[in-house]
Amino acid sequence: MDPRHAILFEPVAIGPKTLPNRFYQVPHASGFGSVKPRTQAAFRAIKAEGGWGGVCVEYAPVSDESDEVPYVAANVWDDGDARALSLTAEKVHSHGALAGLELYHGGASSLNGASRAVRLAPSQLASEIRFASLAKEMTAADIARVQRQWVEAARRGRDAGFDIIYVYGAHGYLFTQFISPVTNRRTDGYGGSVADRGRLWLETLEAVRSAIGGDCAIATRICVDGRDGLPGIEVEETLELVKLADDLVDLWDLTVGSWPEDSGTSRFYPEGSQRPWSHRVREATTKPVVAVGRYSSPDLMAEVIRSGAADLIGAARQAIADPFLPRKIAEGRLDEIRECTGSNLCILREEAFNHIGCVQNATAGEEFRRGWHPEVFTRAAQPDRAVLVVGAGPAGMECAVVLGKRGFSAVHLVEAEAEIGGRLRWTRRLPTLGDWGRITDWRAVQLGKLPGVEVITGRRLSAADILDYGAEIVVIATGSSWRGDGVQPGRVERIAGAGAGLAHVLTPEQVAAGQRPPGRSVIVYDTDGYYVGPGVAELLAADGFSVTVVTTFPVLSPVSDETLEGEMLRADVHRRGISVRRGLTITGIEAGSVRGVDEYDEPWSAECDGVVLVTQQASDNRLYAELTSDQAALDRAGIRAVYVIGDAVAPRILSEAVFDGHRLAREIDLPDPSQPALYRREYPDLTS
Ligand code: ADP
Repeated sequence: MDPRHAILFEPVAIGPKTLPNRFYQVPHASGFGSVKPRTQAAFRAIKAEGGWGGVCVEYAPVSDESDEVPYVAANVWDDGDARALSLTAEKVHSHGALAGLELYHGGASSLNGASRAVRLAPSQLASEIRFASLAKEMTAADIARVQRQWVEAARRGRDAGFDIIYVYGAHGYLFTQFISPVTNRRTDGYGGSVADRGRLWLETLEAVRSAIGGDCAIATRICVDGRDGLPGIEVEETLELVKLADDLVDLWDLTVGSWPEDSGTSRFYPEGSQRPWSHRVREATTKPVVAVGRYSSPDLMAEVIRSGAADLIGAARQAIADPFLPRKIAEGRLDEIRECTGSNLCILREEAFNHIGCVQNATAGEEFRRGWHPEVFTRAAQPDRAVLVVGAGPAGMECAVVLGKRGFSAVHLVEAEAEIGGRLRWTRRLPTLGDWGRITDWRAVQLGKLPGVEVITGRRLSAADILDYGAEIVVIATGSSWRGDGVQPGRVERIAGAGAGLAHVLTPEQVAAGQRPPGRSVIVYDTDGYYVGPGVAELLAADGFSVTVVTTFPVLSPVSDETLEGEMLRADVHRRGISVRRGLTITGIEAGSVRGVDEYDEPWSAECDGVVLVTQQASDNRLYAELTSDQAALDRAGIRAVYVIGDAVAPRILSEAVFDGHRLAREIDLPDPSQPALYRREYPDLTS
């Protein structure tokens, strides 16, 4: 280990417990909660195995009055729930780490979709975030009940083996609703001054402490940020609250701003952007502080600790991207660290699909159900079979890396272009998306280290080349490209006037390669809804074009809302002087103008010198089709199998292309690796 990093491996006492080092996986959602206990346990345990000294599960509602359905939470409503979660505590302990349980009450923001319980709030006010029905203003009996539920849940958590019990106060949930003068208008001693608004939280901390404080560390999460912290309260008032609570707290877990800011994407937030705020909290506490910041640089982590800004390096996303980061630092294997891209595809996977995934770490969430380990690879059955992977995009790179790690001794990864990376070659050069290039960078380092894998660039293979190559297994990973032919979602007819070879109709790849439309005004037509439309628009605006994005969606880039960056992205696009027209379809393009229909089918038109079509991608599966159409030729060439992965199968978000490449390499010894093996599932307890 580099001696400069030794400070990261010092133990830290928190109340009656001691963390073995300063690496702390803060609570974060996974989609597993208490409903997939084995998946949960395996997902968290891998982080403990990789060296994280503290590992927490996600938000854990104390009762069915805070039910998050359709989202998945780690409910601790009764002993059955607690038993399900005890598996996680046990597995985390088996690697020497402490386990944390983030007890929680959503108050007015709870969905209560399953329980149908009335939502609870300090005051009956219409909520900005929950529609249709209002919450109930809590009575004294409601307050006493919630506090009792919290204490009972804390006891259950302790008995289930958790070392760290939270009294979660951040992110706009029940305690925040009491603390904020925006949502709390009470006059009964639980509203008014800062101390009175904080009273529910302080009393609950006290009650939990007296119940289990001798056995467990008491943690709390609180938001500090003068710009957008606790709604309506300034940072000085937050610090006043921290001082009032400090005797009751063993560990301060800080969040900064709203969730989209706290889990800010790499587009808008560099590593360590929360530092100034954690420094402020230092002024008010003598207890250990954990702060996040998408830290992946051990030098910066050590500097943060030395500066006194925090005692623990908190991580959610970086711990997902590389569960073994602490061990790699301890062993001086810094070039092995899989750095988080800050794309928030983990959040998209977890929120939209209730099962977390990661673009950098294809094994995230697959530890139990597929038995995948991020650092352990079983040796292949016949590792001397020669494998040719055609195309070094995310899917091809990942496949070659995993084949190499499984001991294959003759893997050739052949790429047509001079540089590996596939679509990332240009994506990483779009404004603000540089950190996405970490997907390529980590794989480039790995490929260089694997003796069995050779990377050949600048060679575009034809089907004849592949037949002649001498490979026994061929993996086609040729990706996809953006269509320029005017095919668009939801319409039979193509866009009239679109087509290849026109100077005034371009695809995103052509723009990324430096081609520009004639004139000064350009329309970017986006029916895709994610990052490519805004990215291309920003690229052209930076070049001095007058840019309008026309989108079929009601907002620009709705997918970016799933990655928490929609609002910031739209503000950024606006700041760069790009106009946006929503809810419009383009049906025809001429030199100098476009025409189409609006959401009511009324015609519209606009003048422009050129159009970029971000309409739809098409798989490049020609090589696969050609090779598999001639079995006799494959037999003559000694090719036993041809597989296709990634966007060449179907264009998908980046995490799925990486997953596809990883999966094939893991399962290549199965009788039919072309289809994913059925994964293990968990069943509800049928004995109760
Ligand atoms: P994916 O996300 O599925 O990995 P990409 O489109 O990002 O797909 O990458 C595909 C890669 O395959 C690109 O780098 C492209 O240059 C390369 N490629 C496409 N056809 C060939 C070919 N015939 N020979 C070698 N490389 C190819």
